[in-house]
Amino acid sequence: MATEQVLPGVYKIGMGYVNAFLLVGDDVAVVDSGLPNHLNVITEAIAVAGRKLEDLKHALLTHHHADHTGSLSAVMVATGAQAYIHPLDAPIVRGEKAAPGPNTTIMAGRLLGPIMQRLTPKLAPITELQTVNDGERLDIAGGVTVVHTPGHTAGHVAYLWPEQGGVLFAGDAAGNVFGLGAPTGMVGGMFTEDIPAARESFRRLAELEFSTACFGHGGVIKGKAHAAFRRALERLAK
Ligand SMILES: [Zn+2]
Ligand SMILES: [Zn+2]
Repeated sequence: MATEQVLPGVYKIGMGYVNAFLLVGDDVAVVDSGLPNHLNVITEAIAVAGRKLEDLKHALLTHHHADHTGSLSAVMVATGAQAYIHPLDAPIVRGEKAAPGPNTTIMAGRLLGPIMQRLTPKLAPITELQTVNDGERLDIAGGVTVVHTPGHTAGHVAYLWPEQGGVLFAGDAAGNVFGLGAPTGMVGGMFTEDIPAARESFRRLAELEFSTACFGHGGVIKGKAHAAFRRALERLAK
């Protein structure tokens, strides 16, 4: 089953190596839109949440990468949902600016980057984007706060939903790919634009209060998630 309930009102939509999430309040919001051609998976997830595709009103994007914005245009065409993104990543999704290439300060980026880049799907530009800035509170599911977490991309944002002990949608500002409840501040190394900035953003996330953490890649951490972030930070500092 691709869809898994995380908490009442929060669902994880698994799409292979990448996750999107549903946040269900009066309306339905999707956090990231996953790989291209996955509208059917999003539609199924909304049905699992007991809602209809037309209830989907918002698409909260964490960053411009194609595995997070892939089904966005299909979602918007099918539902008329409003998409939100930080102003530094918006021009890439709008097709006004090319996505930065792989990070060549690290070995993997130099060796594998050009191949990975060729495998990255080219998406049609999307112009109807609402930009969101750090600290902004969006009137979605009772209120969601935007946390600018630059590094993985310049305009990367996380979203914090303060209900149910706090739910952090970290996007790729942190990952949990080893599934050990040990978040890392390094996601997709070669596709992280600015590694020192990403580390600083991870530190910033560790200062927030949340008990559940949802990641673009890897399993959800449920319960005391902020403590797991702080432990990971201590390890990074060593
Ligand atoms: Zn990414
Ligand atoms: Zn990603």
